[in-house]
Amino acid sequence: MSFLRRLFGGASRSPDDNAYHIYVRCDRCGRVVHVRIDMRNDLAADYGDTAAEGYTLVKEVMDDRCFRIMRAELHFNTRRAEKSRAVEGGIFVTEAEWNEQQAKDEQRASPGGPS
Ligand SMILES: [Zn+2]
Repeated sequence: MSFLRRLFGGASRSPDDNAYHIYVRCDRCGRVVHVRIDMRNDLAADYGDTAAEGYTLVKEVMDDRCFRIMRAELHFNTRRAEKSRAVEGGIFVTEAEWNEQQAKDEQRASPGGPS
């Protein structure tokens, strides 16, 4: 992502303040998928008796190798701080593991243009 940020940095788009990022590794093929969550639009409020008690996010995630759907579910409190997370079909990993995969992908891509 830092590569993209460098590419588009300084453009007229405002900073991505409302984005939340999660990284999921597929159980079957080991591919890491980056998921960007828009905290303003993607969260669904959990309503208690009188008011929202927090937010839930359910996201279907598909990797680009075996194309299996993983289902991530995150819970947030009323201040939109994360309370818990779970994912079916994979595990959560760190941004560092995503960056590592990106670096490997760039190495694998042939530098000589179209094949
Ligand atoms: Zn997979």
